[in-house]
Amino acid sequence: MKQSEEVIIVGSGPAGLTAALYSARANLSPLLIEGVPAGGQLMLTTMVENWPGYRDGIMGPELIDTLRAQAERFGSRIVNGQVQRFDLSETPYIVETSDARYETRALIISTGASARLLGLPSEQVLMGHGVSTCATCDGYFFKEKRIAVVGGGDSAMEEALFLTKFASQVTVVHRRDILRASKIMQDKALAHPRITFEWNSIVEDIRDPDKGVVTGIVVRDTKTKVSKELSVDGVFVAIGHTPNTELLTGQLDLDSHGYIQTNTGARTSQSGVFACGDVQDPVYRQAVTAAGSGCMAAIDAERYLEGLPQAAAGKGSEIRSAG
Ligand code: NAP
Repeated sequence: MKQSEEVIIVGSGPAGLTAALYSARANLSPLLIEGVPAGGQLMLTTMVENWPGYRDGIMGPELIDTLRAQAERFGSRIVNGQVQRFDLSETPYIVETSDARYETRALIISTGASARLLGLPSEQVLMGHGVSTCATCDGYFFKEKRIAVVGGGDSAMEEALFLTKFASQVTVVHRRDILRASKIMQDKALAHPRITFEWNSIVEDIRDPDKGVVTGIVVRDTKTKVSKELSVDGVFVAIGHTPNTELLTGQLDLDSHGYIQTNTGARTSQSGVFACGDVQDPVYRQAVTAAGSGCMAAIDAERYLEGLPQAAAGKGSEIRSAG
């Protein structure tokens, strides 16, 4: 059965939930399709210390719960489901999940980004058996174990620092000799007595798929080209993220890394389709910037709908007054 909607929002991180909040306050009664994992990357985070207004920080899942309740309070309808197909070739746009088919006059895409992987066959075999992309989820299983964290950005430093709560030793394996992470995160990690660094090193292999557990990693020095094995019990891959845009290839303009291209606010190359959050942001990628762009997407969608011939009267007054 087909369900007709005014606005559909896909994705339930801070961008999607903020878009839902603003669209709901514009009386658009948005339908938000959560996606998997519901709540996005903040559900995998512990303390968020840089969300304005929480002086002492707030836990990621609690922040998502609060945003969700706030969006629902104004009439957002949130449904569980994963989109399997978009058809943006003509309006109304079609959005299909495994158990529903929707058509919508405006679409806001906030599908976020997913953890990038090294691409090793051994990584695939051992994922969930000693290889992980989420210290918050799996760190607990590594009490008094030796762990390697791959990457040199804020995520890698955050994972490494978090894992020191459990691990006896954390080794950060980074492909260069300069960290990409922010100065404060670098300083914390570099000063930590249980964190060591393997500089200019790439992970060539993870041992031992035959045993079904992680027993070590083979790292190659990019300068000397010499490989060596390090004994570790777990590997946390923290090398960034890929935007979740596979279903949109060929339907919207994407940049060379697959991020949705937006201009003048949250507008995409397709009129009536808007994007917000990490799916269109390769630069800032913060919860607060995602939320800000969600607000922009809702306002842009509301103004787009108002401009359509059949737009319902009276919608959107609250958005403009909330300005
Ligand atoms: P990122 O900044 O893109 O860093 C990715 C890291 O992984 C880089 O050091 C990169 O090396 C390395 N890398 C990428 N592909 C690799 C590969 N195939 N093999 C080996 N290493 C590879 O990603 P991120 O750390 O996930 O951070 C993303 C954004 O979120 C950033 O804006 C960051 O500030 C933010 N963030 C903030 C916090 C916080 O404030 N608490 C926490 C997490 C993330 P190169 O350096 O050589 O490119």
